[in-house]
Formats: sequence, structure tokens, C-alpha cells
Amino acid sequence: MFLLTACQRDEEQSAELYVFGTIVEIKLWGASPKEAGHAFAEIQQMFQAMHRDWHAWEPGRLVDINKAFTEGRSATADADIVEMIRRSQSLEAQTGGRFNPAIGALIRLWGFHSSDYPIEGPPPSQAQISEILDLQPSSQEIHVDGLELSTDNPAVQLDFGGIAKGYAVDLTIKRLRAMGISNAIVNAGGDLRAIGSHGDRPWRVAVRKPGGGNVGSVQVQGDESIFTSGNYERFRQDQLNRYPHILDPHTGWPAKDIASVTLVTDEGILADAAATALVVAGLDGWPEVAHALNLKQIAVVDENGTVYLTPEMDKRMQFTGDVERVIVQVE
Ligand code: ADP
Ligand code: MG
Repeated sequence: MFLLTACQRDEEQSAELYVFGTIVEIKLWGASPKEAGHAFAEIQQMFQAMHRDWHAWEPGRLVDINKAFTEGRSATADADIVEMIRRSQSLEAQTGGRFNPAIGALIRLWGFHSSDYPIEGPPPSQAQISEILDLQPSSQEIHVDGLELSTDNPAVQLDFGGIAKGYAVDLTIKRLRAMGISNAIVNAGGDLRAIGSHGDRPWRVAVRKPGGGNVGSVQVQGDESIFTSGNYERFRQDQLNRYPHILDPHTGWPAKDIASVTLVTDEGILADAAATALVVAGLDGWPEVAHALNLKQIAVVDENGTVYLTPEMDKRMQFTGDVERVIVQVE
């Protein structure tokens, strides 16, 4: 179920695996078929465990933790969940609460605990949203004692949808490196981390465009992650409006005015969370949040297809066709 395909061409070995609703393509360069087979089997097992432990609504460890929080009990996590909480706590602080993985109750209320997009029907009522917002769920309210988790706020519900893919990609690269593999790309539907190179060439990565297709591409060499968050793929809709799945934790309503954010940094976990936070920050707020996170390579696309990008990102992007570009400094 988790390993979908495996194949070999020249010195490239690749496999497709499945984890929390995403197909992950792994390409290795310069590994032997035996090494690759071994690596894919190990990663397949890792993904199976992540799927079971980190899923926000399928029965498993995280669902148990959230149930315990609702009932005012403590719960046992594992080292990876603790790490995601720890990182989330500082990311929540650094992004002024725009990234907040404790808003699982809001995400559920909006119906986004589903793999079946688009979701049909009107939004929740303001009264239902306010009921959760008034309790101000925050990852800061989770007490971590070794692997024991507890909170005094029953509205705290963890949802790692904005960070799990990034952390999964990081753990995969770490495992590959530990196995002696130094040229690889781990691509979770366009969100990816690469190490090394593709023989004597860099890896080439497409930058996605809202509504399908690509804005352009970037060449990747060394150790880098590229992540995109957007409002165009997963949403709820009624006769009048679309309500994308990235929520502004301060209002409880979907983030507005940015179609997508693509950014490059070293770690996947930071790239993933930051892309989500910048979408929430919106066209006016993203440079400030990018500055707080010390990010330099960012491209933001608005609903008209205009691309706002930092000079560092502009320098390394090849654009497909005519694109209206606005250079934005993030000091
Ligand atoms: P995608 O890669 O699909 O665009 P993101 O990485 O932006 O997704 O994560 C979106 C997911 O993160 C949502 O489906 C939800 O689970 C969760 N989420 C939504 N809003 C926030 C938020 N403000 N902070 C943290 N997580 C969020
Ligand atoms: Mg994200």
C-alpha cells in the first residue's frame, strides 16, 4: 500500500511512496540498486509509522492525544511529535500566531479533516467559530514533560497539516544520509528537499502556478528545500464563495489575497510552516513575517497572477512565458 512504484534508469533510482494523502517521489542518484532497494524499504516503514502517528483525523496517536486534551487528561507522545510541538511553539511565536498547529478544532469545524476536496456547503457560523476562538488555542499551552503532554486548555487540538510534510521530508533525507546516500530528492507533490546533485547537473524543480502548470523553475544544488502553500487546491465551496483550507488563527476564517507562496530554505519543516504562515500574513504582511523568520528566497503569487519576489529568488528563477514581476526587499 505504501510503496507504489520503483524504477531504475542509468544511475537514477526512483520510487513513489504514499503518506498522509500525498504521493512522495524519491529519486536517488549514484546509489546501487541494492542500496536503493534497502533505502526505499526503510522509508516505506517510516512513512507507515508517520501516517499512523501524525494523522489528524484517522485513528492513531495524534487522535488519541487530542482526545486526551479534550478530556483534560495527559497523553504520551513520541520523540517526533515532541519535536514538532517544540518547533511549532517557536514558529507560532516568530510568526505572530499566524502559524498555529493548535487550531485543529477550527480546521475540523471547517470540514478540512478530509481528503475529499472540494468540500461542498456553506461555511460554519460566526458563533461556532467564535466559540473556539474565544478559548484562544495555542501550542504554547501544551506542557511537555519528557514524552508526556498535557494542557489546561480543552480547545487545544493539534493538527500538523502545515508542518508534517516538511518534517517527513527532513527525516527522510536524514535517513538517506545515514545510509551513505548523498544525492537525492524527496518530492511530496512539489514540496521537496534535495541534497547533492543529479550527476554533474543540478536538480531542476518546477515552481507551481495557481490553477495548474508552472510559473517557472529553479535549479537546486547542495541542501535545499522548496515548499509551496496555496489557496487553490484544497477548499470548501458554496454557491457564492470558495473557502481555502489555510485559516487565519486570529479570525478563524480562511486566509485571503495570496494565491500561493513558494520559498526556498534549508530545512523542510521551516519551509513548510513558513509557507503556510506567509499565506496567512497576506500581501501586506508577508515581508514582515519573512524577515522575522530570516527567509530570503520567496515568490508570492496574487490572484491576478502577479509575482512578488525577493531579489534573491528573482536571481535564480527561470520564468515560463510572460510573468508580471514585482521585486520586494525583505531586509
Ligand atoms: P498545502 O501544502 O496543502 O498548501 P499547507 O502546508 O499550507 O498545505 O498546510 C495546510 C494545512 O495546515 C491545512 O490543511 C491544515 O491542516 C493546517 N493549517 C491551516 N491553517 C493553519 C495555520 N494557520 N497554522 C498551522 N496550520 C494550519
Ligand atoms: Mg505548510
